[in-house]
Amino acid sequence: ELSAALPVTTRDEVGTLAIAINDLGQELKQYRTNRSEFFANISHELRTPISYIAGYSEVLRKGMIESEKEKQQYAAIIEDESKRLTALINDLFELAKMEEGKFELYPEWVQADDVLKSAIAKARLKAAGKKIGIIFDTSSESLMLYIDPVRLEQVILNIIENAIRYSEPERNIHLYTRIEKEQVFIHVKDEGAGIPKEDLPFIFERFYRVEKSRSRALGGTGLGLAIVKNLVEQLNGGIQVESETGKGTTFILSFPVARNAGGEG
Ligand code: ADP
Repeated sequence: ELSAALPVTTRDEVGTLAIAINDLGQELKQYRTNRSEFFANISHELRTPISYIAGYSEVLRKGMIESEKEKQQYAAIIEDESKRLTALINDLFELAKMEEGKFELYPEWVQADDVLKSAIAKARLKAAGKKIGIIFDTSSESLMLYIDPVRLEQVILNIIENAIRYSEPERNIHLYTRIEKEQVFIHVKDEGAGIPKEDLPFIFERFYRVEKSRSRALGGTGLGLAIVKNLVEQLNGGIQVESETGKGTTFILSFPVARNAGGEG
């Protein structure tokens, strides 16, 4: 237990070592604080849907409700909250696997545009539900990546789904790719609510939401971007975000371009 700081009395090796040990102690303390905060968050996030499920099922079981319409509403809440629990457990499991490094990647040569197209195809239904158009300007160049296509698609799909979630109906989402300085950049631009400047540095943190009730109502777990960031790091990529409230948000992914792709390039 590194609880008390060591006194730093000299400037020699012993002094330097004492400083290093003190820094380590600080880091450990921070890690412990973060971890217990994380578990407190998990417990809260799990408790909320469970309390809805327990409450409404009890009301239904006791036959306290006469109206069929009201019964249906309560049953729908139970269904929604069960789905939320499933999503939460899946996301937590995904994060746990990543943090333990128990996480296999299967890289192969892929066209960036092909992965985008496949992510867009999966997002179409949700987008159509809100009359949101997804516009993709395919690249004129061939942008080859040596990357796990399933994981890359997961990252892109997650960002597109957020764009849909935080946009009003009938807005558009634009996707495009470009290449610069040996990097493939993938832009996902929405015309949604935007993210206030003061919140931007925190959106990749676990359970951080700009508007808690809004995220919750829209079915968010608060873990999506934490998973995205972790995945992007494992894929040797980078992620940036630009946003203006009321105008929209752009997420920009970057990955090192792969040359000599299976004889191409
Ligand atoms: P959630 O499940 O709440 O969507 P995420 O980790 O995916 O959690 O995102 C964290 C927060 O970042 C969201 O709650 C939302 O406030 C904000 N956010 C993410 N993407 C967008 C976007 N495209 N437009 C506006 N806000 C966004």
